[in-house]
Amino acid sequence: MLKLIENPVPWPNGAKVAVAITFDIDIDSILHLAHRDTSHKLINAQSLLRYDRISVRRIVDMYRHFGLRQTFFFPAWCMEQYPDLVDYILEGGHEIAHHGYIHEHPNEQVSKEDELYWLQHGTDVIQRMTGKRPAGWRAPLYNFSEHSADLLAQEGFLYDASLMGDDVPYILKSQSGEVIEIPSHWSLDDWPQHSYAPEFDFISPIKSPDQGMDVYMAEFEAARKYNGLWVSIWHPTVTGRLSRCDRVAKMIEMMLDSGDVWFATMEEIALHIQKCRAEGTFVPRIENMPTYAKPLEASTFKVSAPRRTFQANG
Ligand SMILES: [Zn+2]
Repeated sequence: MLKLIENPVPWPNGAKVAVAITFDIDIDSILHLAHRDTSHKLINAQSLLRYDRISVRRIVDMYRHFGLRQTFFFPAWCMEQYPDLVDYILEGGHEIAHHGYIHEHPNEQVSKEDELYWLQHGTDVIQRMTGKRPAGWRAPLYNFSEHSADLLAQEGFLYDASLMGDDVPYILKSQSGEVIEIPSHWSLDDWPQHSYAPEFDFISPIKSPDQGMDVYMAEFEAARKYNGLWVSIWHPTVTGRLSRCDRVAKMIEMMLDSGDVWFATMEEIALHIQKCRAEGTFVPRIENMPTYAKPLEASTFKVSAPRRTFQANG
């Protein structure tokens, strides 16, 4: 049989694929960050993003209907602003993971100390509001910095969910230790499929729920065929809208009916990887971080390759 993943993971109970439907509950944090002086005037954008107040509850209710527990990545500022959503998620038995304080971008912080400050501040809020330190982190807008792996290890995080470097979990090794990377890809993010947000210069034709699902399901079928991993990066303001959520319910039904899908929280996936690694049944790839500690030397770019020119026909 064709083998397209070199080191597939032995998922629990012979499952062919691990599935984690993760939602990032950014609510209006991104509006205040992008429009610091005028966000209070952008009422329509506020309403679009604060739709999360409706859709997070809808998603939790849907999971309850199917008997699933999943992972929500939650900026700590949003947790403070909308504590009732935190309670609703916790009542459903779900995992809450770290997604920045107010969706600040780690690789745009002025120093490693600044990044550490916001990481610790977010952790403190999560611990206070959930009674548990977060096991995992996803960098806001995937903006992982050259210090992030080291800070996550230093702060005792079990896993990261920001990167796209493999089809199965791998290890980020830095000076302070190791963190399990549970990767995904833009093809499982819902913004490219369905978002239309002029305030963020994000304007693309909105696809139907089925068209978006075609992209997600191509990823699922391949992951299932080759014992991979399927982690969505969805947003309640996008995929929690009524028609898309209805389509997701059909997807969950189909996955449950297949009988060989392991639905898990991200923490459960990371713990499984840790266990397999200890038993020697899975040897994850180890990636040393950061890849580059500083920009390449200027001399690297003094190449004398002939410049290609392209001419249009006619
Ligand atoms: Zn986000």
